[in-house]
Amino acid sequence: MEGTCELCDRNGIELTIHHLTPRELGGSLLPIAYLCKSCHKQVHALYSNRELAIRLYTVLLMKDDEALKKYLKWIKKQPVTRVVKIRKSKTK
Ligand SMILES: [Zn+2]
Ligand SMILES: [Zn+2]
Repeated sequence: MEGTCELCDRNGIELTIHHLTPRELGGSLLPIAYLCKSCHKQVHALYSNRELAIRLYTVLLMKDDEALKKYLKWIKKQPVTRVVKIRKSKTK
């Protein structure tokens, strides 16, 4: 699915679903956020599931965290790189 990432606000980017409260901690039915792959990776690299559940359970809280702020400043300047699917064609 393509759209706008809720963290870095870049457009036309492939989105993944982030459970604001990790599923392991009972977040399956709680709100989700659509994040691009880079942001999603970054969020999980910076914080443990427990930290996300206790402290960073909304997009606004995440955006306001010092470590993510730094990352967002940088990622916003990065172009949306599309992963090009390679089509294998049998030409004979
Ligand atoms: Zn993003
Ligand atoms: Zn996630």
